[in-house]
Order: sequence, then C-alpha cells, then structure tokens
Amino acid sequence: MAGQAAGAPKVFPARDAQYIGGKWRPAAADARIDVVAPATGQVIGRVPAGDARDVDAAVRAARAALPGWAATAPAERAARLAAARDLMAAGRAEIAATVSAELGAPPAFATAVHADLPIRVMGSFATLAAEYAFEEKIGNSRVFQEPVGVVGAITPWNYPLHQIVAKAAPALAVGCTVVLKPAEDTPLVAQWLAAVLDEAGLPAGVFNLVTGLGPVAGQALAEHPEVDLVSFTGSTAVGRRIGAVAGGAVKRVALELGGKSANVILPGADLARAVNVGVANVFANSGQTCSAWTRMLVDAARYEEAVELAAAAAAKYVPGERLGPVVSAKQRERVRGYIRRGVEEGARIVAGGPEAPEGMTAGYYVRPTVFADVRPEMAIAQEEIFGPVVVLIRYEDEEDALRIANGTVYGLAGAVWGADEESAVAFARRMETGQVDINGGRFNPLAPFGGYKQSGVGRELGAHGLAEYLQTKSLQF
Ligand code: NAP
Ligand code: MG
Repeated sequence: MAGQAAGAPKVFPARDAQYIGGKWRPAAADARIDVVAPATGQVIGRVPAGDARDVDAAVRAARAALPGWAATAPAERAARLAAARDLMAAGRAEIAATVSAELGAPPAFATAVHADLPIRVMGSFATLAAEYAFEEKIGNSRVFQEPVGVVGAITPWNYPLHQIVAKAAPALAVGCTVVLKPAEDTPLVAQWLAAVLDEAGLPAGVFNLVTGLGPVAGQALAEHPEVDLVSFTGSTAVGRRIGAVAGGAVKRVALELGGKSANVILPGADLARAVNVGVANVFANSGQTCSAWTRMLVDAARYEEAVELAAAAAAKYVPGERLGPVVSAKQRERVRGYIRRGVEEGARIVAGGPEAPEGMTAGYYVRPTVFADVRPEMAIAQEEIFGPVVVLIRYEDEEDALRIANGTVYGLAGAVWGADEESAVAFARRMETGQVDINGGRFNPLAPFGGYKQSGVGRELGAHGLAEYLQTKSLQF
C-alpha cells in the first residue's frame, strides 16, 4: 500500500487469476472487481469477476479430485491441515495487514481476531480430522460417516478469513473437496489462503477459488448440479434464495444468516460490567458481527443508569482509532439510514448520530451510536443494521424480557447477565437462540455456532461443524 512503512507487514498483492485445479489461471471473462480500502476509499487491487465458466471449471476440478481425497487416510488429511495451520501462524502479520486493508479493521483487532481465530480454527480441524470416529457399530451394523462430496462455499466479508476457514477446514478434514466464492469486498485474504493451502500440499483440485459477484459466480455455484452441498454465510435474503435452489435440486444446504441478538441484563446483575461488555461486543468490528448483541434489555428500575453507562462507554470508541470504518460506502449509507430511521421512529440518541464523525473526510466511518427509549417493534429493534449501533430496550419483568428477547425473526446468539449463574442459565434455556454467553462467558471456537429460526440451518465449528460435511452409510451383517 502507498505510504506503508518499510518493513511493515505486506498486504497480499491481488492476483489477476482464479485458483482452479492446483493452478492460478486466467479467468474466462475480462471483467474485474476493484478492491477498495474502506479506511481511505482507495483501490488497492483488482481481482477477476468470475462467471459461470470459471465456476464450472472449478467444480469439475473439485469433482475430479474427490475420489482420491475422500480415500486419503484421516491422518494424512490432518497433516495437510496442520501444515496449513503452521503456514497461517507464520503469516499472521500478513493476514492482519490484508484484512486491515480490505475490511478496514484496526490492526490490533485484525491480529487478535481476524488472524488468530482462523488459525485456531484450522488447528482444531487438524486435530478433529485425526481423532474423529468415522465409523461406529450399531447392533449388527457397521455405520460409516462418509464425505458428502463437492462443497460450494459462499462467504461474506465481515470476518473474511474466519468464515472461509469455518467451512473449508471441516470440509477438507472429512474428505470433501471445495469450491469457494468469497465476498467481492474482501477477496485478497481468500487468495492468500488459496496460496497457503497450495503450499500446504493439498492435491490439485481439492481446494479451488473463484472470485466474482454474488448474483453471477455465487449463483452459478449454488445452482451447479455437480455441487453436493452448498454452505452459505451471509444475509437472510440471499440465504433464503440459496435454500430454495438447493431444495429444488435436493442437495444439502447449510445457512449461517443474520441476527438481532439480545443482551439480557437481569435485575441483580453487575450492571456496569454487563453494559460495558455489551457495548464492546457491538462496536467490535464496527458493528459488523452477525452474532452481535445489538439489543440491550434492561429492567425499568435501572434503565436510565444503563443508558448513561452505555453513552459513556461509546465515547471510548473513537472513529479512526478503536473504531474502524464500515466495509463500503453502500454499507455506510445503510447504517446511517437506520440511524435516521430510529430518530423518525421516536427513539432518543444518547451517543453518536447519522452525521459523519468530526474531522473524518475520507473513509467509510460511522459514529458509534446508542439509542434509548427504543420500543421492541421499532425497525431499529427488529432489523439487522450491521453497523456500530446499539439499542436499549426497557422491560418490566422477566416474562416481559423473555418476550422481547424472543420477539424477532432471528435467533443466532445472545447474552444473559444474572445475580448468579443458575438464574442466568434458566433464562438462557428459554431463549430461542443458538448461542448464549452467561455472565460474560468467552467465545469458544469448538462450540457449535449457528441459528434458530431465520438465523440459519446447521452448525459450524468443532465436532458439530465437522458432522455437517458427512453423510451416513450402514452395512448390515
Ligand atoms: P450477502 O450479500 O448475503 O453476501 C454473502 C455472500 O453471498 C457474498 O459472497 C455474496 O457475494 C454472495 N451472494 C450475494 N448474492 C448472491 C446470490 N444471488 N447467489 C449466490 N451468492 C450471492 O451478505 P453480506 O452483505 O456480504 O454480509 C452481511 C450479512 O451476512 C449480514 O446479514 C450478516 O448478519 C450475515 N452474516 C451472518 C453470519 C453468520 O454466521 N450467521 C456471519 C457473517 C455475516 P458478493 O460479495 O458479491 O455480494
Ligand atoms: Mg453483498
């Protein structure tokens, strides 16, 4: 990047090629995607805008490689993934620099999360590949877990490397082959990973990468008859269409979609801690986290105190320092539109607002925004904003809190803070959601991750995530 200090970690230089069948080869079409740095608005690279021809070539390569890879001993697959993990660890600074450039994540967060999380996840699937029981005995049967086949993976930009690894690593671990279509906004770290998997010694065609636009390359991948499983992470609107296409073709589908998760602060909880951790949870990654606790639920008695605490916490997220930009100009307009809508709906802004942050003339920055006096039916309390915006909702009693917490179409994540673990767990068990953090419980990269209701179908990560890429065969004796 221009102006980068000598010796600073390199941003992966864009390749004008698709990675298909173990080789970087020219795309069929001439179209290109500009990769834009959200912190500056400048173009930092160009990658191919692949079309159905590239997708077809990649799927054929994956199909051809399938029998050999599926028959490889689990220990050998584990060794390849362990090699990939080691190469990723060695390239940690390059991952962070690349994600910082194309997503806009501040360097510290890019290193601690965008680099370190996928490194851990790759390592976890190297271990699982070696240890997983692919065979069991049930009465007079031997039951085998076999790879489902060719996987078409379609991923978003918000945790660009993590979301790729969360699909590719388990698929490869069990013997599936993969075609990846990454988000158009963050293709560089996807190309970086393709280069790493190549260096890790995966046989040609086992992993393939096609950069391109969603409605073109993504759709062609989802519709391709030689794809056995489509694994998609992204918006509910696109996920619904992909589910319909896959259903029509009777192929497996996994969907990781949006969320509007509740952070439920019960009476008796440590309010200051719950509010501060809650605000940090939303503003991390500029609010672009599908599992973010974007609705904070506080009892009426302590509501105003919580509002003050949240506003004070927001002041610490200075745009351009701790708070990065959002991914694109389009995303910035979407988020600002929701902030204006919240005001129109009668909610009270206690921090931030729709205007550009002071003094920030370049880059796609949004002011960290806290809304009070939010009613559960408002759009800002129902719809996923995907920016640095948190809404505080007042509840009367626990039953009211539960109704509000469960009162959206989503059910991806959430948090409960209680006076004791037992009461928090009892509340969490009644929430219609796939993951709940109890009194500040830490993210666990081995725990199943995925949604109830319209937040998705299927689970990622750990042994549950691995099982998604298997199909079962019974032999009777
Ligand atoms: P998106 O528009 O749904 O895009 C996700 C991926 O699908 C991208 O690669 C996109 O390509 C592709 N795509 C778009 N239209 C397509 C089509 N018609 N057929 C096939 N593929 C298509 O979502 P986004 O805006 O990138 O990401 C934000 C959303 O993802 C949020 O709603 C967020 O909650 C959700 N999300 C969920 C999770 C989870 O784990 N549950 C994780 C992260 C994000 P382009 O890049 O070219 O558009
Ligand atoms: Mg999109």
